[in-house]
Amino acid sequence: MGLIVQKYGGTSVADLERIRNVARRVAKTFDDGNDVVVVISAMAGVTDGLMKMSANISEKPQKRELDVLLATGEQTTAALLAMTLCAMNYPARSLLGFQAEVRTDCDYGNARIVDIGTDRIRRLMTGRTIVVVAGFQGCDPEGNITTLGRGGSDTSAVAIAAALKADTCEIYTDVDGIYTADPNICPRARKLKVISYDEMLNMASLGAKVLQIRSVGFAKKYNVPVHVRSSFNGEEGTMVVNEDSGMEKLIVTAVTHDKDQARITLKKVPDQPGIAAKIFTPITEAKIVVDMIIQNTRAGGQTDLTFTVPESDFPRAMEIEREVARQIGAEEVFGGKNIAKVSVIGVGMRNHSGVASTMFNTLAKENVNIIMISTSEIRISCVIEEKYIELAVRVLHSAFGLDR
Ligand code: ADP
Ligand code: ASP
Ligand code: MG
Repeated sequence: MGLIVQKYGGTSVADLERIRNVARRVAKTFDDGNDVVVVISAMAGVTDGLMKMSANISEKPQKRELDVLLATGEQTTAALLAMTLCAMNYPARSLLGFQAEVRTDCDYGNARIVDIGTDRIRRLMTGRTIVVVAGFQGCDPEGNITTLGRGGSDTSAVAIAAALKADTCEIYTDVDGIYTADPNICPRARKLKVISYDEMLNMASLGAKVLQIRSVGFAKKYNVPVHVRSSFNGEEGTMVVNEDSGMEKLIVTAVTHDKDQARITLKKVPDQPGIAAKIFTPITEAKIVVDMIIQNTRAGGQTDLTFTVPESDFPRAMEIEREVARQIGAEEVFGGKNIAKVSVIGVGMRNHSGVASTMFNTLAKENVNIIMISTSEIRISCVIEEKYIELAVRVLHSAFGLDR
């Protein structure tokens, strides 16, 4: 018996039958004597649909109104699940983000949770009520609705689990755990029994969207045991915990990919002090995160500079750089979204050489051209053409001995 937070993702609540399936799981956990807080996502595809609708009205909708709109996805499923539980004669109550006192900063679309008041949830639990919280949403100090960024229900769940000091936070999704690569594109990926917060942070930061990166940050900071598992079967999933997974003995522990990438090139930029600052300061001010940067040397005091940004920021970043190019006298700005990043990750890489050459040779054998490279002591990433990304994940997974 304990306090369990369960989060159900979009595919797990995609229709009423699946919501009934979720309700049965929640009821079982409750019947076992546990207090249960459920954090729920919008139905699969609903957040995307709402975004498309707003895009049909304006290319740049007011961020505040977009959050009011997007939050309706989770409002719908929270109500439907609470109703379903009540129809099964279980005491349940839905709470929206502000009612669950999920307090955030005012960064619409990407708000950070700063605090969660637990009084209301605790009162309901004391009365043996199942609490269903709408994920992905909170409320800023002015009372405005905010959302936490794509995949943000994971963060809602882990943050609520941390605030309640829950015994465990179960993340129910459409795969039955965390794998050595995305199992939907790499059929030979292996499920991990355990993974450390740090390893998962690396994977999430390099594109493994099975957990939103901020949720892993919360889990690590507050030491919340997270169990990632499937809502469609009873199998044990993957525990994300504060300990070595034992995987460190391997040099490469996972291959990740990230299609959410775009590149921008400024051609014939004057090769002078202060130019990089002029190129990147307005990008930072627009809160756009730059990932990789490369600069080539050219003859004649000019250079080409290429960098990558998330796809969703591409139009804005292009707009900014066209203006910068005009100011600094660069010849041309061009870019595209047809790229993706593949990364090999492993803390064991620190003490091994040869990982980079294996990676480059493996891609070369498949005739995959590498556009950009970046390295740290525990990962190597290559930007390639997006159409080769799935092939690249599979061959690298194999080359580093990760295949099942
Ligand atoms: P939910 O809607 O339940 O939050 P997501 O789509 O956000 O689900 O996350 C689950 C998806 O994450 C899986 O369907 C899978 O394609 C993807 N994924 C990417 N990398 C991994 C990985 N290493 N292990 C498991 N799943 C992964
Ligand atoms: N519905 C939101 C999204 O699709 C949040 C979530 O599912 O975690 O990003
Ligand atoms: Mg998700």
